[in-house]
Amino acid sequence: MKYTVDKRGYYGNFGGAYIPEMLYPNVEELRSKYEQIIESDDFQREFMHLLKNYVGRPTPLFLAKRLSEKHNATIYLKREDLCHTGAHKINNTIGQILLAKKLGKQKIIAETGAGQHGVATATVCALMGMECVVYMGQLDMERQRPNVERMAILGAKVVPATSGKMTLKDATNEAMRHWINHPVDTHYIIGSVVGPHPYPDMVAKFQSVISDEIKKQLTEETGNPFPDYVIACVGGGSNAAGAFYHFLNHEHVKLIGVEAAGKGVDTNESAATTVLGKIGILHGSKSLLMQTGDGQVIEPYSISAGLDYPGIGPMHAHLFETGRVTFLNATDEEAMQAGVELSRLEGIIPAIESAHAVAALSKLELNQEDVVVINLSGRGDKDMDTYIKWGKYKSEIF
Ligand SMILES: *Cc1c(COP(=O)(O)O)cnc(C)c1O
Repeated sequence: MKYTVDKRGYYGNFGGAYIPEMLYPNVEELRSKYEQIIESDDFQREFMHLLKNYVGRPTPLFLAKRLSEKHNATIYLKREDLCHTGAHKINNTIGQILLAKKLGKQKIIAETGAGQHGVATATVCALMGMECVVYMGQLDMERQRPNVERMAILGAKVVPATSGKMTLKDATNEAMRHWINHPVDTHYIIGSVVGPHPYPDMVAKFQSVISDEIKKQLTEETGNPFPDYVIACVGGGSNAAGAFYHFLNHEHVKLIGVEAAGKGVDTNESAATTVLGKIGILHGSKSLLMQTGDGQVIEPYSISAGLDYPGIGPMHAHLFETGRVTFLNATDEEAMQAGVELSRLEGIIPAIESAHAVAALSKLELNQEDVVVINLSGRGDKDMDTYIKWGKYKSEIF
């Protein structure tokens, strides 16, 4: 298992737990207990029950015939967009809140950038009757009003982070500070395969249900559990980690991660970490991140809020360095076109994040025998304003 985490919490050169001394007991409690808890029969029974009856799993694996014809391959869509709350993120928040309960915690904190992880966290807190505090940059709260309102209806308290640039990084700092001050009763739910060990491994394991289902569903469809390609977009990397997980050691399955190029990788308005990033410490682990010469984090840019993250998780940094995953990127323009194309060919409006994965189809040299699985991480309802604005600007569409 050379692509999964080692005993020290590293993926090759990346990972670890770079945390303030005061956070050590919290993280150590998790590290020493998480595997035993999530592997227990009791935990697995509850987790699987909620994934089935609350999240709506298994999500379908859909043969997209018109898209296949267009791109000259056999293309399946893994429909994470059909999960409760509209994206894959809930797979992780369900797992982590069950873990928090087993650890005897009564309160949950989280940080959120675009608000999607905040909503997924507020949702499971309502489900479990747990107190929920979500830190969010004040600027992000203004930009993502509907998600702030969703969290409020779900009963969560949204606390604005007013330091720094008032975005995700500042919200993360506030959440860490809160956790230091409430180590005994509070669990911190991180929303992607980022953060100090054991978070990346824990989140990847919760999301790995995606590739587990793909293997079973492909076997039913084609008699073979292994596709030729799996394609997923990468923000922090959790939906990609879940879609790749059970294929990592099957090297004949080509794994493609798609980052957001924003306005282009050479424009200063981009989020393509594998192109622009350098090794550094972000959110408590060593990974690749976009930073200035003296180590200041550069604000990323993408039209899709969920890919607007200045780094990638340590597992992906390792998968990039070893070449196990091929990283491509798609610009705003390419993603928007692919999103509209999927809407019109298959009747599925994808999240703009997921549209980046669809955009990779025209960057690969595919042939008719190739079986391709695209992880459709979320649905496009939340992105309607952006689609409409873009469509009006491109007046050929509206
Ligand atoms: C948050 C989000 C992403 C990006 O996060 P990952 O951890 O990289 O998966 C992708 N797609 C959707 C729909 C999201 O909400």
